[in-house]
Amino acid sequence: MSKKGLAGILLTLVVGAIVAVAIALPSPTTQAPASFGVFNLGVSPNEVEPGETVTVTVEVLNLGEEEGTHVLELVIDGVVEQTQSMTLDGGDSASAVFEVQKEIEGSYSVELAGLTGAFEVVQPEQPPDALEETRVYFFDVGQADATLFLGPEFTVLIDAGDYRRNDVVPHLMSVGVTEIDLLIGTHPHADHIGQFPQVLDSFTVGEVWMSGDLHTTRTFERALDAILASDAVYHEPRAGQVFEFGTLLIKVLNPYELTGDFHEGSVSVHITYGEVSFVFTGDAETHTEQAMIDRGHDLEAQVLHLGHHGSRTSSGSAFLDAVSPDIAIYSAGKENPYGHPHDEVVQRLAAMGIPLYGTDIHGTVVMVTDGVTYSVETEYAVPPLTGTTVAENMS
Ligand SMILES: [Zn+2]
Ligand SMILES: [Zn+2]
Repeated sequence: MSKKGLAGILLTLVVGAIVAVAIALPSPTTQAPASFGVFNLGVSPNEVEPGETVTVTVEVLNLGEEEGTHVLELVIDGVVEQTQSMTLDGGDSASAVFEVQKEIEGSYSVELAGLTGAFEVVQPEQPPDALEETRVYFFDVGQADATLFLGPEFTVLIDAGDYRRNDVVPHLMSVGVTEIDLLIGTHPHADHIGQFPQVLDSFTVGEVWMSGDLHTTRTFERALDAILASDAVYHEPRAGQVFEFGTLLIKVLNPYELTGDFHEGSVSVHITYGEVSFVFTGDAETHTEQAMIDRGHDLEAQVLHLGHHGSRTSSGSAFLDAVSPDIAIYSAGKENPYGHPHDEVVQRLAAMGIPLYGTDIHGTVVMVTDGVTYSVETEYAVPPLTGTTVAENMS
């Protein structure tokens, strides 16, 4: 087959396909006018980092019989940035390749002989800076809650154990607590505010948060008396409020308003250190979890402290989905009479592949984080109840 014949076939093959985009281009040379088709604009990749090369290619076809030359103009955002001269025999086609680099972030439009495309220049996400170490202690205080955030600029205690025991202050002292910036009593039950008096007597406490629900028990009265006797600022947080304690960010998820039901009133918080977040809901039950979802709070967190000691009243599927934790922890007493954690909850977490730790079987559980990464340490060398993460045993 002659060269001419091959070109003829090629022309026949492509002309049909390029009709929509082919445009007759005037030849800039003094040679016999030739018309060119330009087709198949390629812009690759469509997204680059500043300074990276974007390759713009087109197929150019000399639609005429004679050799001809055409100058292609690459237009970026309306400005002619590059030109390229193509000389082709009649009927021949070839690729034109342009290389483009942009230092400034943004979207760029590409135009070449009437064909259009686009690419984006985006800054690569900077890896977050590691912060100083923060340790989050989920203390083993029996069938009760006491969780401590001990960081470089903050000491926050969420709940203070069982009224019948005296283990919270020793726990706090054993890890070096000297004063407390914030003490949260999630709700007035005696397994949450039980040792408020001892804590408030032993440490200077900057601020105390309570839901505002009032109980008639002696334990509750003693807790209130201890708060009044201290210099602590008293506050009843409400959903939507945001507080900073040093680098610790605390978003209040609940209550929006009090109903008189202590569990519905549980002070619930989303706490973020660097890039690592935790959710605490006191003894909030599934309908209260749903209310938090319905209010549109950002609930996502790496660590979820299961509501109500791992009871089936809490940790509903919708809430677990919304928080989407990497790790779940509950606080419960060994062989507690309530059967916490309930099997439904354990199974739900198992089905989601979420490792579950409990103070009843792991003892005190510690999350150690630099705000970027985190690890789990447990008092007893026991694998998680569900999931596959293996905790490091505390020495
Ligand atoms: Zn309760
Ligand atoms: Zn409780």
